[in-house]
Amino acid sequence: MSGVFRLPLLLALLASTAPLQGAQRREPECPWCEKGDAAAIGVVGHGPMPLLSKDSDDFARAYSESDWMFLETVHFRLASSLGGQNLSAKDSKRLEADLERLRTAFPKMPKRLRKLDPWLRLHWTAMRLEDFYARFQRLLGVTDADFPESRGDDPYMGDGRYLGEKEKFEVLLHESRGTHHRATEDNTGVRVTDSMRWHHRSPHKLVLSVPAVDSDLRQDRWLLPHLVHNLSHAFLAAYKHFSYDPPTWIDEGLAHAMEREIEPESWTREGEEGTYQERGRSRPWDQEARSLVQKDEAPPLAALMRKHTLGELEADDHVVCWSICRFLIDQHPGPLAAFLGGIKGQLDERGYPSGKDLTGLQRRLLRELWDWSPVDLDQAWREAVAGNPAHFPGP
Ligand SMILES: [Zn+2]
Ligand SMILES: [Zn+2]
Repeated sequence: MSGVFRLPLLLALLASTAPLQGAQRREPECPWCEKGDAAAIGVVGHGPMPLLSKDSDDFARAYSESDWMFLETVHFRLASSLGGQNLSAKDSKRLEADLERLRTAFPKMPKRLRKLDPWLRLHWTAMRLEDFYARFQRLLGVTDADFPESRGDDPYMGDGRYLGEKEKFEVLLHESRGTHHRATEDNTGVRVTDSMRWHHRSPHKLVLSVPAVDSDLRQDRWLLPHLVHNLSHAFLAAYKHFSYDPPTWIDEGLAHAMEREIEPESWTREGEEGTYQERGRSRPWDQEARSLVQKDEAPPLAALMRKHTLGELEADDHVVCWSICRFLIDQHPGPLAAFLGGIKGQLDERGYPSGKDLTGLQRRLLRELWDWSPVDLDQAWREAVAGNPAHFPGP
């Protein structure tokens, strides 16, 4: 007889736990997607979705002191606990084109908007990150179609659809430093104060965690270029699969260039404990670069190529790395794309990705693609800086 009663009891238990789990998730529904066409701005959905080692439900439970929203796009998965963002008249002007695109996706959006609510703000962020993904693909001279699901060798492009990684890029946006502290500690073993990016091994993907709590990062005008700087590093790391670190000078120079295309005054710095953002602390960098060239104080590329960590870069080095990258992006985009493909896709004799002798590899690629030595590149860059200042789109 007991067996007869056991089954209803089990069913009753299942019935009572299922709604409880739902309540614990505390995920409000997106009020915009159901009334609009979110696919128009690259949105795939709001989960549940894979995130870190498990999924978004698990993430919401683990960091339940905040309310989390999740959003998946074609190339990203985002978790955000950020609130809404007020729009001043200036902000509305600056974001006019973006707001128009959002309105195309969500026709119910009011014509005059004083505030982006948390959900709308998250969709705006996702749209701009997808814009940046497309921008970085243009820099690399690639499209999604270049990346196979799994490794092939003709040509070698990594091991996955997302620039060569298996999974989409994950971005965690925290309203409080507490959840950022714990998320970094739980996933990397290190409790980090400022923004941090890391490579998640199983499955392979790049993750970025950002505490948007300091005065600048609370505002989207400064948060977005900070995300772009960090994602520039993450994308280059991911390109053809993250197997070794790319050369520091070009990694940092490109990150500055991408960040300043979004906001010319933004300056994300790499500290001991992650990356943070400052602004308005220097002359415009195009003027700085010109002045270094005129005074003959610019560090030569050969010296920059010998610096293998971000901590070794001096303030002037940052300006010169940015300026050389700017010169290559603007005047040599084709060879630059080939150069980036070459430094990220080196294979050893057995076909394994190898970061061996990257300095030698860069010298060979410079010779092959431009017929330049590092000194020749210095010279071409100096002439461009001195002779054609208008060329550099500084602030
Ligand atoms: Zn939505
Ligand atoms: Zn950086």
